[in-house]
Amino acid sequence: ATAPWRPDWQPGFAALGPAFVREVLPTPLPAPHWVGTSPEVGVLLGLPPDWQQSDALLQAFTGNALLPGSRPLASVYSGHQFGVWAGQLGDGRALLLGEVNGQEIQLKGSGRTPYSRMGDGRAVLRSSIREFLCSEAMHALGVPTTRALCVTGSPALVPREEIESAAVVTRVAPSFIRFGHFEHFAARRQYDDLRRLADFAIDCWYPQCRVAGDTTGRATYAAFLQAVSQRTARLVAHWQAVGFCHGVLNTDNMSILGLTLDYGPFQFLDGFDPGHICNHSDNQGRYAFDRQPAVCWWNLHCLAQALMPLIDDAQAAEGALAGYEADFTAAYLELMRAKLGLAQPREGDAALVQRVLSVLADEEVDWTIFWRRLSHATATQDFEPVRDLFVQRSGIDAWLLSFQELHAHMDKGLAADLMLKSNPKFVLRNYLAEQAIAEAKLGRLGELQTLQTLLARPFDEHPGFEGHAGFPPDWASRISISCSS
Ligand code: AMP
Ligand code: MG
Ligand code: MG
Repeated sequence: ATAPWRPDWQPGFAALGPAFVREVLPTPLPAPHWVGTSPEVGVLLGLPPDWQQSDALLQAFTGNALLPGSRPLASVYSGHQFGVWAGQLGDGRALLLGEVNGQEIQLKGSGRTPYSRMGDGRAVLRSSIREFLCSEAMHALGVPTTRALCVTGSPALVPREEIESAAVVTRVAPSFIRFGHFEHFAARRQYDDLRRLADFAIDCWYPQCRVAGDTTGRATYAAFLQAVSQRTARLVAHWQAVGFCHGVLNTDNMSILGLTLDYGPFQFLDGFDPGHICNHSDNQGRYAFDRQPAVCWWNLHCLAQALMPLIDDAQAAEGALAGYEADFTAAYLELMRAKLGLAQPREGDAALVQRVLSVLADEEVDWTIFWRRLSHATATQDFEPVRDLFVQRSGIDAWLLSFQELHAHMDKGLAADLMLKSNPKFVLRNYLAEQAIAEAKLGRLGELQTLQTLLARPFDEHPGFEGHAGFPPDWASRISISCSS
């Protein structure tokens, strides 16, 4: 069947040419089926309304057929993994199909590429469902992220710790350029290519960084670094406010656009444990929850190092990153204020945030449930459900007094409205994803679709789905997620 969609491809990243990309055909998978689809992303791309019914598109998004005019590409990048220079990496299992409506379409799991190294180029159903659900959930939470159009599954088997079935996620973002792309060309001393990549990124997404009269471009590249630093600070602030732990913050997983990128062993916190490590393979806790702001700062220094041949002034590069901590703190406080129902800065708000973090950490109180209950309590002025979350009440009681003092002269209804829009009822807890995955492995997609519906509107009440907003079951803490995907 011919695809009912003829994308109007834009040159985009592909136009950078052979130093950056290789043409690679996807490797077909047998008997594909739809696992999940996101109508919203279909609209973003301008897909025909009935695209989920099209067998031709099912084949295309599995890598079994090419969309009209598509010449799939794998791109090369390098990076630091767990703090160590890893050399060349690249799209080992991802292929760029092309750019349409300002969005790149990428298949993940579509077979080997020149950058696959020892890997098989595949992705398993489990991790593909996690990436699909979480990308869309993050978007609905207001967190910058790559999107996911669909997941398709195949009976083909893939060896991991266990034998699992193969799947392909179709990801969508304005760009998948990583810090590691810049590191690659810097490490190879391909400075002309480095410059072309930086110019491309600046022209497309950071045109405000062009400094008038800057004939060498040095000031422009420093401004670019600063802008990436600002976006990264804002991204991490979102993660810390929503309780999201990425798990693998290697420089090859850092988006130049400040998007959450590469969903692997990520986790939304259950109980608030600031030092929580969600990646089973992260023995040192390098990517523990509370280290994310610092580790992204470290990653920005890798980017700065890579841009040095262009900026050519160590002080200017340092200066470009100097605002990171303040940017992070400002963005984080703004998000935390909204969680506290404060539309405006108030004297003592930062201290109130610090104190609640320590009170929550003392008993590892559930992050999502605490904030949601506090929101409802602000509406009803009945704080018992919040107190019930604690065995030791003295800390929370003292904190609630300060909280109520800060709210004393505020409209409680307005504050509660802001809180209910800022504190989600539903997040993609690990155990919820595991349940949907277990069902999907048996061919039942109901739970996945339920999660998709709830997570698309995570601030709504969704009566009848209290079970999806409750405490995790005991077995949730025994789920172990590694890099294997
Ligand atoms: P990640 O840890 O998922 O960010 O991947 C790090 C690098 O390994 C990237 O270059 C990936 O493309 C590559 N990679 C991960 N899994 C596979 C796989 N199954 N086959 C080929 N390459 C892979
Ligand atoms: Mg990656
Ligand atoms: Mg823990």
